[in-house]
Amino acid sequence: MRMSQIYAPTLREVPAEAEIVSHQLMLRAGLIHKVAMGIYSYMPVGWRVMKKIMDIIREEMDAKGGQELSMPMVQPAELWLDSGRWYVYGKELMRMKDRNERDFLLGPTHEEVITTHLKNDVRSYRQLPQLPYQIQVKFRDERRPRFGVMRCREFLMKDLYSFDRDEEGLDISYRKMHDAYNRVFTRCGLTYRPVVADSGAIGGEGSHEFMALSEVGESQIIFCPHCDYAATDDIAAVAPVPTGVGEEFLPMKSVETPDCKTVDDLARLLGVTADRTVKTLCYMAIYEQEEKFFVALIRGDRQVNEIKLCNKLDCIAVRFAEDHEVREHGMEPGYCGPVGLAEDIFIIADTEVPLMVNHECGDGRKDYHLMNVNYQRGDYRISQVADIALVQKGAACPVCGQPLDSMRGIEVGQIFKLHTKYSEKLGALYTDENGDEHPMVMGCYGIGVGRTMAAIIEQHNDEHGIIWPITVAPYQVAILPVNDKDEHLMEQAEQVYEELLRRRVEVVIDDRQERPGVKFNDADLLGFPLRVTMGKKCSESGLAEIKLRATGEVLEVPVGELADKLQQMIAEMIEELQYKDQ
Ligand code: ATP
Ligand code: MG
Repeated sequence: MRMSQIYAPTLREVPAEAEIVSHQLMLRAGLIHKVAMGIYSYMPVGWRVMKKIMDIIREEMDAKGGQELSMPMVQPAELWLDSGRWYVYGKELMRMKDRNERDFLLGPTHEEVITTHLKNDVRSYRQLPQLPYQIQVKFRDERRPRFGVMRCREFLMKDLYSFDRDEEGLDISYRKMHDAYNRVFTRCGLTYRPVVADSGAIGGEGSHEFMALSEVGESQIIFCPHCDYAATDDIAAVAPVPTGVGEEFLPMKSVETPDCKTVDDLARLLGVTADRTVKTLCYMAIYEQEEKFFVALIRGDRQVNEIKLCNKLDCIAVRFAEDHEVREHGMEPGYCGPVGLAEDIFIIADTEVPLMVNHECGDGRKDYHLMNVNYQRGDYRISQVADIALVQKGAACPVCGQPLDSMRGIEVGQIFKLHTKYSEKLGALYTDENGDEHPMVMGCYGIGVGRTMAAIIEQHNDEHGIIWPITVAPYQVAILPVNDKDEHLMEQAEQVYEELLRRRVEVVIDDRQERPGVKFNDADLLGFPLRVTMGKKCSESGLAEIKLRATGEVLEVPVGELADKLQQMIAEMIEELQYKDQ
């Protein structure tokens, strides 16, 4: 490609809405154009990177037995009514009607469509497993699109679905994909970590998210520096550390605590630490048809994790109960407690609570709290004990007990075990050796292509621009003849360019009549991994200069040896990014 011709609409000024480096650089380098909120075009240089990432994904999916197909973006509502998601998915689902007033939607994911295909096409266990996948446009009407293509509304996703005959088969497919994802993200040059994740709206149990480590990431990762435990904070488990254990039960007593609505007020007044108190939080659990009042108990110094709460109660969402709702259930807001609650109130307690000895809590009456309360003595009732605490840095690792650490990550991919959730609802059955029918056992596996590209830039840049890993670079080499008055030099540069093209090296030549500074700046901004400068030294002694964008390292090479040397360097750089089996 000639820089005089390249369609890379670079910018000097970055629009203020670009808050993070990758978004700024994608705009500055002319990789994307915004069309509407959360909707982007990929311009030619940006699209080359996208294609590189997609090639890597395809190679790794195919290597595991994946077979590429292409499903429609527009899907009929019937399929989503059958799966039960038409009503559950909410506003992110872009719904529309055709000319006959029939309901359709823009696919945010493709479980319904692919499961229907398998239902119609697969009869026998002999046809399983199947690993169909596509790289296709998804639409999610996100509440807050931001950070450019990192969180947008229309985006490209690789989605693979596994269909097996049983759970053992699913385990094998899941492990294959886990391995394939390691290979994809390693080859893309990302520093990432697979973490145990919540399986969210898609459902089923068993999921990992692949997190590119970055301060701008929207996810909080909790990990143990001592063992390999790592999870998102949505679900990270907390090892219980109950307080008061070993003490004798003291007589329970009610104490007056005027104007003492927070845990800290209470702890101060009673002269105890917050970890000796129990918070009683009144919630409404939101289900499809109704809302139900319930109470959550947690140690005073901890926070409730509402995602865990929803998962445990199997509800769509939770919200805090209004004051009048709290009063209707016999408690005074700010002074809620579990002792003496009506039998029909559901009480969920965090794992630590029933183990705590002589704790404080609200009395239920205004201006009173109870001291020396003990679940183990039968002072109150619990309907369900579950881990509902939000993990914080420093909490004990659930595996080895050491203090947990945290960092931020960008979710570039996620893998889920779906089990038979969709195959049962949509009737995707196969027949076994004995002629008996069973639902296929499924998994689904997504990678955001654009988000991966943004994450790569987020991890690979400096004040001059992007630093592409060789595997995804739009062009591997840029040739910069920096004295366009010297015709012989220009001719030599053209020859090197032609030779590299012949060898299928992806190369650009900066043939513009621009000052060297402009050429250097653009090459740095666009992030070409290898820059070849041909200038005065070249005219005088036939030496060109190769500079590595990533390290700044410079090599002088005779012009005649350039093509060989560059090819060798490219091969080595690609080799360095291969995934090494552990
Ligand atoms: P998030 O939690 O970030 O909204 P998600 O968990 O809903 O994402 P999945 O359904 O797991 O997303 O989709 C698989 C992959 O698709 C994600 O790991 C991510 O890389 C990509 N992806 C999802 N939503 C978006 C989006 N709005 N913009 C760009 N990429 C996205
Ligand atoms: Mg996800």
